[in-house]
Amino acid sequence: MADINELRSKMDEITIEMIKMLKKRTGIAKEIGEIKKNTGKVVTDESREDSLRIKIISLCKELNFDETIATKFLNFLLNESVKVQSSNKQTHLSIFLKAKSLELEGRKIIHMEVGEPDFLPPQIVKDALEEVYDKGFFKYGQAKGIPQFREALAQHVSKNFNIDVKQENIMVNPGARFGIFTAINTLLNSGDELIVIEPAWPAYKDCALYAGVKVRTINTTLEENWEPSISQIEQTINSNTKMIALNYPNNPTGKILSKKLQDEIVNLAIKNDLYILSDEIYSQYAYADWKSVLCNNYEKSIVTQSFSKSHAMTGFRIGYTIAHQDIIDKLSKFAALCLTNVSEPVQYIAMRALEADTSDNTNTVQRRLELLARKAKEMNLDFVVPDGAMYIFARVNQEGFDGVQFANSLLDKGLAVAPGEGFGNYQNFIRLSACQDEEILTDGMNILTEYVRDIQ
Ligand code: PMP
Repeated sequence: MADINELRSKMDEITIEMIKMLKKRTGIAKEIGEIKKNTGKVVTDESREDSLRIKIISLCKELNFDETIATKFLNFLLNESVKVQSSNKQTHLSIFLKAKSLELEGRKIIHMEVGEPDFLPPQIVKDALEEVYDKGFFKYGQAKGIPQFREALAQHVSKNFNIDVKQENIMVNPGARFGIFTAINTLLNSGDELIVIEPAWPAYKDCALYAGVKVRTINTTLEENWEPSISQIEQTINSNTKMIALNYPNNPTGKILSKKLQDEIVNLAIKNDLYILSDEIYSQYAYADWKSVLCNNYEKSIVTQSFSKSHAMTGFRIGYTIAHQDIIDKLSKFAALCLTNVSEPVQYIAMRALEADTSDNTNTVQRRLELLARKAKEMNLDFVVPDGAMYIFARVNQEGFDGVQFANSLLDKGLAVAPGEGFGNYQNFIRLSACQDEEILTDGMNILTEYVRDIQ
């Protein structure tokens, strides 16, 4: 029998060698990152990653080694490369922060870069703010949320989507972003894979990177009406794939999938035992036929919802997750570790906000989207008329157009828009938000029209 100390020192040697190799690999990744930056190439090249994956799988066959472990290790290495290469990504948030600092210098900026409704929360919120002190909701509470609030949310969801949701299926979050972060960090392990359909709100990818989860991207195109292809998703699924993220109505495209296509994706997830993370925070702004993933009754689906957009309550930081009780139990353990419980006064206020009729918000955003679409058409921008949400994702048809440069220069003219790059490999796109009143949006679109004309 081999000596244990000898074996241990062999293990140490191998581990030390691996660390030295990792340092070497990270150095090369940095160099490649510099080249990509200088030549305007995107960080992730999934076809390159795929060809390496194929090599690793065939090596595993040769060596008779577990392919799942090897590809998880590969995913760790690929994510490390993405981390060292992606320090400079410009998103709607970087433009927003820049716009804010210009405003501090006294400049006037029209905000069409962020998805924050300009209208007020329902009037009932004001009453609730006053009454919460007397109601005594100001102590520590349950990690899943105040029971009365969870019950009210269960009833609200059941009524809205015509399904049967119970309090046990609900967990209150400080915003949908936290719900998404929690789902990815709790349900997935390092080296697992998450499928994201792009263009997409960047947090799915960023949360995954943070959790050591590898993102596999499905790129959709304007020409194909932002529809993902089932066969493309099917080909991306492997033994490490654990979750697919959906977001319809979509930020940034406004797309709503047909029920048939959405059902096909859900069935694919069921067949492959994947979690479905369905971010449905724009459901209040659905102007075409839309169906919640909850209606599919799949026990591995996690739906995130929020008061941010529907009730114009972004700063309250309040949202909720709907899922099978076993999933809610897991998620709430993580939430208890992070924050004990969501602010009790804010939960009470959101519970009262549920009583409000918010259909005016729905109509207002629809009118604004129509205005943006009309103006964008006059400008000959390429876009798909949104089915919902609060945005238009448009391509500017110009040789060598770069959304980041464009958005930065446009700030000087007093207009903030979001560069397409923040939502995936869409450098020649910009996202326009319908979150200001029609007069301001018209002024914004006039600035845009003039600027696009000037640079042509
Ligand atoms: N999901 C999507 C698709 C979003 O666009 C946003 C905010 N822009 C969020 C989630 C975050 O919502 P919350 O304010 O509830 O964290």
